[in-house]
Amino acid sequence: MSKQILITEIQRFAVNDGPGFRTNVFLKGCPLQCRWCHNPETMGELPDIYWKRRLCVQCGECMDVCPNSAINPPTPPDVTRMPESGYQKIIRARCDLCMNCIKACQYGALSIVGKPMSTEEILEEVEKDRPFYNNSGGGMTLSGGEPTAHADFSIELLSLAKQKGIHTCLDTNGFCSWTAIQQMIEHVDIVLFDLKHIDAANHQKKTGVSNIMILKNLSRLSETGKEIWVRIPVIPGFNDTIDFHIRTAEFLSNLPGTVSRVDLLAYHNWCQDKYDWLGMDWNMKEVEATEPSFLEIPADIYREKGFTATVGGSGFESPEKMVKSQ
Ligand code: SF4
Ligand code: SF4
Repeated sequence: MSKQILITEIQRFAVNDGPGFRTNVFLKGCPLQCRWCHNPETMGELPDIYWKRRLCVQCGECMDVCPNSAINPPTPPDVTRMPESGYQKIIRARCDLCMNCIKACQYGALSIVGKPMSTEEILEEVEKDRPFYNNSGGGMTLSGGEPTAHADFSIELLSLAKQKGIHTCLDTNGFCSWTAIQQMIEHVDIVLFDLKHIDAANHQKKTGVSNIMILKNLSRLSETGKEIWVRIPVIPGFNDTIDFHIRTAEFLSNLPGTVSRVDLLAYHNWCQDKYDWLGMDWNMKEVEATEPSFLEIPADIYREKGFTATVGGSGFESPEKMVKSQ
């Protein structure tokens, strides 16, 4: 059996991450720290612990088994169930992930995030969905976290999937060596390339890393002839201006090769519970979700440049919206 890697979720019947019905495999660990991240559980490379305040009855069993005094004492549930109380069960800086507390909790309030799985185990799960791929043009989408941060494992998984005749998408932020991308795309049908911002300073400020390598990789990738869907998460106060979309459409149309389509993804804050379960502060939780229909105007900017553009990235988008402008 191959080396194992931490998986946060294998999501079935996904329809927004490549064509047809997809089985999304989410790897744990990402070199970016996007402020709006909708999957905060995938950021860290190590396992995490969810503590769900609504399920916790404050019985104290977890505290009794913790060898590191990393559990706060029981406090009345009517206080601790309010996120505004600021109460957290786990003092994470003291926790060494021994997982004793999870075994001790009988109420389902504690759980591990990140399951070690081998390529064979992942593919066994993915193959269960094969009947749904055949008529929909679907397959497996490798996502994260960031698959290129685990290049050897990702290459092995993608190549085994291809050997089994499974359609593959790679969802990447492009922050990696060109060699990693080059080796991976050999086993990939479509690259879903996440583009956050074309300005270096803005990118650095909200993701924690420079975009120089990302833009260069996108440019080189476009020259390979591989099918690329650029995905832009449209984030209020970051990249939601018409000027940004005009400049980005210009940038994409000046690439040396081609991009097949552009997907605009609306910001939402449905993930705020996950931040709370992980004991993380999320300073965007008060930012209102964007109504997807508001993104049709920016999408037209890309269509006018000749790109196929969608709002939401559905693999079953209606033909009218997929049509390129003439
Ligand atoms: S996993 Fe962390 S909090 Fe839980 S018992 Fe172990 S050290 Fe304590
Ligand atoms: S064992 Fe579970 S229910 Fe009891 S205090 Fe700990 S987290 Fe809460």
